[in-house]
Amino acid sequence: MSEVSHPIVKETLKALLERKEFLPVCQGESRDKAFKSMEAILSTPNQIHKAYIRMPLANGEIVRIPAFRIQHNNALGPYKGGIRFHESVNEHEVENLSFLMTLKNALHNVPYGGGKGGIIIDPRSLSEKELHTLCVKYVRNFNDIIGPDKDIPAPDVGSGEREMDWMMAEYKKINHGQPYLGSFTGKSVINGGSLGRREATGKGVYFTMRYLLHDYVEKNRTNLEKSENRFAKTTLDHFGRPLSVAVQGFGNVGSVTALEAYRDQKLQNKVIAVSDRNVTLVNRDGLNIPALVEFTMKNKGDLPVSEDQLKEINVEATIESREAILTMEMDVLILAALEDQIHQDNWSDIKAKIIVEGANAPVTQEADEQLAKNGVIIIPDILANAGGVIVSYLEWLQGRETQFYTEEEVFKRLYEKMGETMETILPQYYADPYALRQNAFIHAVGRLSEVLYKQGKLY
Ligand code: NAP
Repeated sequence: MSEVSHPIVKETLKALLERKEFLPVCQGESRDKAFKSMEAILSTPNQIHKAYIRMPLANGEIVRIPAFRIQHNNALGPYKGGIRFHESVNEHEVENLSFLMTLKNALHNVPYGGGKGGIIIDPRSLSEKELHTLCVKYVRNFNDIIGPDKDIPAPDVGSGEREMDWMMAEYKKINHGQPYLGSFTGKSVINGGSLGRREATGKGVYFTMRYLLHDYVEKNRTNLEKSENRFAKTTLDHFGRPLSVAVQGFGNVGSVTALEAYRDQKLQNKVIAVSDRNVTLVNRDGLNIPALVEFTMKNKGDLPVSEDQLKEINVEATIESREAILTMEMDVLILAALEDQIHQDNWSDIKAKIIVEGANAPVTQEADEQLAKNGVIIIPDILANAGGVIVSYLEWLQGRETQFYTEEEVFKRLYEKMGETMETILPQYYADPYALRQNAFIHAVGRLSEVLYKQGKLY
């Protein structure tokens, strides 16, 4: 049996079990049974689908590329989650990401379940034609299990609008006459995508940071000042002053988050470092983020790697190793690259007191526990990076009605949704001893458990 190894699930269920106000109708032996069922449901996905995609390459060679679609849970709605194109994809990773999607949707009250896809390939190693064939064949292989009311994929690392457009076109062709706009999200706007989808995750990541360190404190300062909670102290230490921010990963999520931080006139942050898989660029007085975004757009997503390239675009920065970003002096570290970036061997070198998880699972469980003990606030992935799935939901709704919102409307709805979640989570966070991740898990698992209980699935 395959299992998501999340000790936090056990702790979350224990915390819920002890709460008398949680599922008060379910008591005694049936309460124990219900919680055991819940643990099993969370720890194992509903379905694991795997295919070996047969691919003729341009050089005449024929290869078989492993591909997955894992459907974790659909109690709250159709499965939903991205398709990752990366050489390090593996079944366990996809499964863990599908589990996080279940919780992310439950946390933000988005009517979807959790799923995830992955293809073990470095997309940069394929020509555009080969990539197109791979996308088309992915849909052919998984056509029976995907669809607007079954399982709705979206982009993830290594995939984007182009791939979603190709996939939707294939889905439309195979399922002739059926609704198709809701089969994939993250499509180009001209193909039924939503305005603002590309920026949604990065904007949401910055929104959670700002909400926690500024908007919420403005409204609740007196209470926080009275609180003995160690995280309240960290929050207040960062309130009302310009913050130094570093962003690991300068792709879809990282570049937009960095721009948002740079542009926030009120808080006057300084984005002092950004990185990608090649370099870290540092300027303690603040980097020129718009110039770097423009450069990456013209250079296949890569940041400048030499003095000459920096000079060409008039950006002042020193070039350091890609790992340097993690351990620099700074206030806020935003992780927007890949998993497991802060772990057992480097957590004690981390100087930031606020960490925001733009990427999924960038901090390991061990590092997470140690950092929390030191009063470091980690805004967890399921809370911080849900902007993408929230706007995907808006895209799906717009596709159903073939009525499309303005960009302003999209961001307004995005911030309302994320703001509601923050308002639900934060008062409890500052009142109880748990870290923010545990708090978010308790909330998400609580909602999912109640739904499953009412559906008669916990026995
Ligand atoms: P992306 O556009 O592919 O960007 C990834 C970035 O990380 C690139 O700048 C890449 O650099 C960099 N990177 C890769 N390996 C690195 C390393 N070892 N050290 C430092 N940087 C490294 O992907 P994305 O869409 O922004 O996704 C980033 C993370 O956010 C993923 O965990 C993803 O699951 C999560 N996420 C994304 C969305 C979304 O809507 N896109 C939604 C929720 C969560 P190179 O360009 O040099 O390769």
